[in-house]
Amino acid sequence: MVMNTEKKLFLLFTAIMTLFAVAIMINAALNFRNYSYNSAIDKAHMAAELIRDGLTAHMVNGMMDKRAAFLEMMSEGDSVKSLWIVRSESVVKQFGKGFKSEMPKDEIDKEVLKSGKEIDKFYEDFENATLRVTIPYTASSYGKIDCLQCHDAKEGEVLGAVSLEFDVREIRREGIWTLVKIAIITLVFIFLSLLIIKHFTAPYIIFFKKLEKSLMRAKHGDFSMKVRTQIKAKDVEAVAQRYNELIEKFNKTVGKIEKKLAIFLKGSTGYCEDPLEQATHTIDMLSDIHRFKNTIELDSDAHQVLTRLASVIENIVSPQRLLIFEVEADKGTRKVVYNSGIDLPCTQESMERADICRAYRTKKSVFSDLYPQLCPGFQGGYKYYYCIPFDITSTYSVVIMMLSNDKEKVNLYKREETVLMYYLENSKPVIESKILMQKLKERSVRDGLTGLYNRKFLEEVIDKINKQADRKTSKYAVMMLDIDSFKMINDTYGHDIGDSFIKLLVECINHEIRSSDIAARYGGEEFVVLLHEASYEGALRVAEKIRTMFAKIPISIGDKNVTSTVSIGISLYPENTASLREAIKFADIALYKAKRGGRNRVVLFGEEVEKSEEKEANSYLFEDNAPE
Ligand code: GH3
Ligand code: MG
Ligand code: MG
Repeated sequence: MVMNTEKKLFLLFTAIMTLFAVAIMINAALNFRNYSYNSAIDKAHMAAELIRDGLTAHMVNGMMDKRAAFLEMMSEGDSVKSLWIVRSESVVKQFGKGFKSEMPKDEIDKEVLKSGKEIDKFYEDFENATLRVTIPYTASSYGKIDCLQCHDAKEGEVLGAVSLEFDVREIRREGIWTLVKIAIITLVFIFLSLLIIKHFTAPYIIFFKKLEKSLMRAKHGDFSMKVRTQIKAKDVEAVAQRYNELIEKFNKTVGKIEKKLAIFLKGSTGYCEDPLEQATHTIDMLSDIHRFKNTIELDSDAHQVLTRLASVIENIVSPQRLLIFEVEADKGTRKVVYNSGIDLPCTQESMERADICRAYRTKKSVFSDLYPQLCPGFQGGYKYYYCIPFDITSTYSVVIMMLSNDKEKVNLYKREETVLMYYLENSKPVIESKILMQKLKERSVRDGLTGLYNRKFLEEVIDKINKQADRKTSKYAVMMLDIDSFKMINDTYGHDIGDSFIKLLVECINHEIRSSDIAARYGGEEFVVLLHEASYEGALRVAEKIRTMFAKIPISIGDKNVTSTVSIGISLYPENTASLREAIKFADIALYKAKRGGRNRVVLFGEEVEKSEEKEANSYLFEDNAPE
């Protein structure tokens, strides 16, 4: 920039000076030429007058025949190239033709004789320069000599003309030489002026250069370069001083800002070189993250937080495809929490066995730029994937998967990883507390020994399930299970063995029922299962399977293997009753019937026994310390 200014100044000044010099030279040349021309013409007039007077004297003295010598003498003057006179027709008529040379030589002579007006002409080529002046002599009775005394002519009539040719080469030479001198003087003047200007502008140029250098450094974050100047001018010194104060302030504050921001965003640099722009960008990001944190704190659960995180990721890198998985270490499985598409780019196996997912297993981000099959859990559909694992707790992690067919896009995911990690870091405590809350909630509805829902939960939700079932017109088979002679097991082998049998029965139940079924521990060794959409036969089949499986699997006690049995009662909703609560009661009646029938059996609630068994069932529950 400064270099340009310097060059510009130089060129501008040189151009102005050159124009000025050229103007002066043209003006001088024109003036000189004009002056030379005019002085030659004056000379010609003088000569013409002398010649006329001379000729008149010759005429008056009767020496007209001697005029040739006079004319020759006149033409000997320096710079007069040639001289001749011509007679007009009236003179020829009166005095004869005169000498041969006194007849008109050319068109100019004729024109002047005819018009009585002087003609001046300038002939010039490379070698010669000639001025021709032809002046008419007109008859006049006024003045010193009365022409009309001798000439038969009227007042003002043309009597003749004199032509003179001057050699003006010398004048031209002198003119050129004068121009050369002017040119040399002007060039010297321009050169000296440039030197002087350079001398005076150089410190300013240096000052500007220093300013520019310092500003360039400042642009890249270095505010340490101060500018000094040799110019002893108050305004320039003030500019330098103010600039230095400003840059020092920047140096102090920007450094502080950078240090403080670095605490928030470790490693997140690289947005741009300019630290101020970088700081603005970082502050924007921090404010976004702050807002994000405030929002997720009010989210209902961890999944909602992760879905919100997905929308943040969409905003930052807009991935072609985005998925968020959650991994529960104790289960060893993965679950999709967010999917911006429909299909799954991971294999089913990698969902069931989380350690197949390379990002989860290695705890490192996975970029498929070199090997598409880097992760054995990747199924395909996209050219590249970038997966970021992140542990929320020791048992709960998430994996963010971003996919694209464009490698450049995936490079962008990689570049923005620090920012995404910052969001993850900030959502970590929130997700953690949401998971904890979820667990606490779960715990209050689950039974600690078996992990099944407790009776309290069943009581709470039974009416809801009933309503839902009404709306959807779905049906349930209700199973009530009770381990046979459990008191005796406890008494004989102790409570721990009793607990083992309880857990074994729950394993058998879980093995047979579907995820849409609801199993609850109803009392000590008594369980209720709501089999969703189960038919009469279906429910019977499931119950039989549980019963036989439980009876077959032994519990080892020392060197003994002990087995137990279970009795099961079944009722149907809505076939037996429109109330699920009542269906549980009816299942209990059927269970009592099974106990009465000799235990280790499945009994369906039958309408024909409903009345007679109900009373006995109540007394059985009471007598045998059955659950309330
Ligand atoms: P029946 O064949 O008629 O069912 O006879 P039963 O001995 O199983 O009779 P009952 O249902 O009255 O026995 C229940 C016993 O289960 C009483 C109680 O001490 C015991 N019990 C209740 N909860 C637990 C538990 O969590 N663990 C263990 N080990 N025993 C429990
Ligand atoms: Mg029992
Ligand atoms: Mg019981």
